[in-house]
Amino acid sequence: MSHLPTVKLLINGEFVESTTSEWRDVINPATQEVLARVPMATAAEVDAAVAAGKAAFKSWKKTPIGTRARIFLKLQQLIREHMKELAAILTAEQGKTLADAEGDVFRGLEVVEHAASIGSLQLGEYAENVAGGVDTYSVMQPLGVCAGITPFNFPAMIPLWMFPMAIATGNTFVLKPSEQDPMVTMRLVELALEAGVPPGVLNVVHGGPEVVNAICDHPDIKAISFVGSSKVGTHVYNRASLAGKRVQCMMGAKNHAIVLPDANKEQALNQLTGAAFGAAGQRCMALTVAVLVGDAQAWIPELVAKAKTLQVGPGNTNPDIGPLISCAAKDRVATLIAKGVEQGATLELDGRSVSVAGFEHGNFVGPTIFSGVKPGMAIYDQEIFGPVLCLMAADSLDEAIAIINANPNGNGTAIFTQSGAAARHFQEEIDVGQVGINVPIPVPVPLFSFTGSRASKLGDLGPYGKQVVLFYTQTKTVTSRWFDDEASSGKVHTTIQL
Ligand code: NAD
Repeated sequence: MSHLPTVKLLINGEFVESTTSEWRDVINPATQEVLARVPMATAAEVDAAVAAGKAAFKSWKKTPIGTRARIFLKLQQLIREHMKELAAILTAEQGKTLADAEGDVFRGLEVVEHAASIGSLQLGEYAENVAGGVDTYSVMQPLGVCAGITPFNFPAMIPLWMFPMAIATGNTFVLKPSEQDPMVTMRLVELALEAGVPPGVLNVVHGGPEVVNAICDHPDIKAISFVGSSKVGTHVYNRASLAGKRVQCMMGAKNHAIVLPDANKEQALNQLTGAAFGAAGQRCMALTVAVLVGDAQAWIPELVAKAKTLQVGPGNTNPDIGPLISCAAKDRVATLIAKGVEQGATLELDGRSVSVAGFEHGNFVGPTIFSGVKPGMAIYDQEIFGPVLCLMAADSLDEAIAIINANPNGNGTAIFTQSGAAARHFQEEIDVGQVGINVPIPVPVPLFSFTGSRASKLGDLGPYGKQVVLFYTQTKTVTSRWFDDEASSGKVHTTIQL
């Protein structure tokens, strides 16, 4: 195994080999080829990364806003120049198509661009004469060492949701990428150093539960951004909050679409197909449930016909659907499909037997559609994270809204309709944080923030955009009075006069 490349840690500006004895393979999900080995960092290595961040914070927080911003101007340029290379690394280790991989990098790039102008969102406020001769002003100061823990499904975008915003606002950072696909993240980190991020300002450790727990417990880490499953996110939120940290967790989902019979059928079915099966369903904003209202229930055969046209194959040939991340993920999805049949849903299209010539060992599952799905079935109650679409039926828009509001998750939702009144009613009544109107995957650009809600999120503030500036800073208010020596001579102030 020694011929395999190893994924390095980044500590204090140096890419270093871990001294751990625990390693796992990074595997190409289309071929099972082992691409590299990733270390499960030791406790001492986590400590060293945090210590580097703590030391670097002393000068980084005083680095002028413009100097910090220009690093991200440079980084966005480097990412653009390396787009094809980054996408190729991502596809090899994660499986998604090259087009999707470029999209993954691009959505992160937008956050880097935003980080380059963050100064305008980190301004304080000033009120003159809050009492006679007394002024109050506020400043938004960086917190110190912040940490990020990221999932496998967007290994470029999600690290880029985190470290550019944390660093641009004056913090230092320890990143823990997904151990399943850390290589594209590391290439982005190399580019960040090339763009001018100083030693210690950005550090990277790799690992699984032990490293995550060490981050949650570490007394010198002030805030943690987590993106991943609800189970792990809830654990991280509870553990790190108990340790006194600020925590934000973006977690699992079950995103519903409502299809009204007045929708533009062709567009609605195309968008639904793309949003359910694209990226093999491994998006936290995938549309995994469609509630067909009234006459739209007759559209199932056309939906199935469209899904059947999707090409499944290795991501580097740019099919419609690549493989799932791991053999375990494929087994889990297949088990859930079997459970759906067992629990009485109608299997309209079965993707389990898909076979890709020349890639017989790839983790492929084809588009799968169930109708007659009900709460209580495992395929409805669990996030499948595969190319499986569940269809439900409702007689009215209000009945469809009630189904969605009764589901605990609140990441995203969409409605397909040509009625402005119906869309407005939906937008007002739906209890989900990100709403699309004839837009299937309504992830906001970084001028806003990612605003998943209810069981899909813990913590008040979202990642990137305006909200994360509040998350990564502490507001300090200063109330000041300056004495005019002559006017105040001889007076002794013993009481607070506000
Ligand atoms: P995951 O929860 O398994 O892993 C996320 C991170 O937690 C990884 O870095 C992993 O190493 C670590 N981890 C895994 N098990 C752990 C444990 N027992 N204790 C401590 N740390 C642990 O998630 P994943 O499978 O990599 O990603 C898919 C999940 O992420 C899906 O549920 C998806 O919906 C969610 N997700 C959510 C969003 C969002 O914005 N809401 C975005 C992307 C992905």
